Amino acid sequence: MLKINIIGAGILGLWQAYRFAKAGHQVHLLEQSETLFEKASSRLAGAMLAPFCESEASQKELIPHALKSLELWHEGPCEIHTNGTLIIAPPRDRIELISFAKRTIEHELVKSEKLSKLEPALEGRFDEALYYEREGHLAPRPAMETLLENIKKLNGQISLGFKGSLPHANYTVDTRGMGAKSDLKTLDKTLRPVRGEMVVVHLPDLKLHRPIRLLHPRMPSYIVPWPDDQYMIGATVIETDDDGPITLRAGLELLGSAFTVHPSFGEAKIIEFNAGSRPSFSDNLPKIVLEGDHIFVNGAYRHGFLLAPLLAEMVLAYIEEGVPIEGLFQ
Ligand SMILES: Cc1cc2nc3c(=O)[nH]c(=O)nc-3n(C[C@H](O)[C@H](O)[C@H](O)COP(=O)(O)OP(=O)(O)OC[C@H]3O[C@@H](n4cnc5c(N)ncnc54)[C@H](O)[C@@H]3O)c2cc1C
Repeated sequence: MLKINIIGAGILGLWQAYRFAKAGHQVHLLEQSETLFEKASSRLAGAMLAPFCESEASQKELIPHALKSLELWHEGPCEIHTNGTLIIAPPRDRIELISFAKRTIEHELVKSEKLSKLEPALEGRFDEALYYEREGHLAPRPAMETLLENIKKLNGQISLGFKGSLPHANYTVDTRGMGAKSDLKTLDKTLRPVRGEMVVVHLPDLKLHRPIRLLHPRMPSYIVPWPDDQYMIGATVIETDDDGPITLRAGLELLGSAFTVHPSFGEAKIIEFNAGSRPSFSDNLPKIVLEGDHIFVNGAYRHGFLLAPLLAEMVLAYIEEGVPIEGLFQ
């Protein structure tokens, strides 16, 4: 049994702590916030598990890894929905739909009849859609709570309000997100924030069963069904280190896009406006950086939920068996 410190209780840290505790190691999860998840960008995620749709904007080599990670989610303790993803566009933006189809794989072009079977609420609203049947989503905050409960059940120790020096351990896995910026300094390992703004609304009168992505030449957006009749509407992708509140423009555009998907969103109650930073490296791929017994896992960009289980599996295999880290993640 090894003693493992994990610093940072975002989705990457929670999966590392859960996986090491499950493998029988003595885990100590150390988080700077007094209140869990308060400062984690993970609490703002959709959280879509979308290997194919996300490949539109990232390296195709990531797909097999993302699929493996999706399997690991299914093997874990959290509830996962695998209802696929639908991509839609108003008729004037049909070219965007065709172009998205060309840039991605594993989709079916569904016409209005099948579309209305998949999402009855969208009947008559869109003539066609791209359907990615194998994709999933989950409720991010309940999933983080579930991981935390399981870490505790597996005798993991959790310290909030952590400052100062680390307890003695065989290894430290550092998942501090943007908190690790000043310690990751080489040119290709410099972290930058990619801002994401989002809105959460409550709308009991509409039932959507899967993430719906709305294409738009300027600002694509998505709606993810969350528990308790809530929908998360996201998200901007802005290269800036501004970490202030959501702008009026982003709020208007996100709410407008939800209204385009279905006018019932006009009656939704807004329960949260929020903004945060996605920790990202220059190639938008997560990295496992080995510095002796200190292992950084960071840069998850738009893929933190998608890839967290896989990254935990890789670090565990490296520490237990010396399995080298896959080139893509170095
Ligand atoms: C609006 C939005 C939508 C998104 N949607 C999706 C999606 O649909 N699917 C998907 O896969 N990803 C999505 N993402 C991306 C995903 O949220 C990130 O990739 C992920 O949250 C990164 O997780 P992390 O654990 O690295 O960082 P964080 O969640 O930021 O966690 C880092 C933790 O470390 C703590 N910390 C920092 N410094 C210290 C310190 N010195 N000591 C102790 N603790 C410290 C912080 O308080 C924090 O709790 C989205 C992101 C945003 C902003």
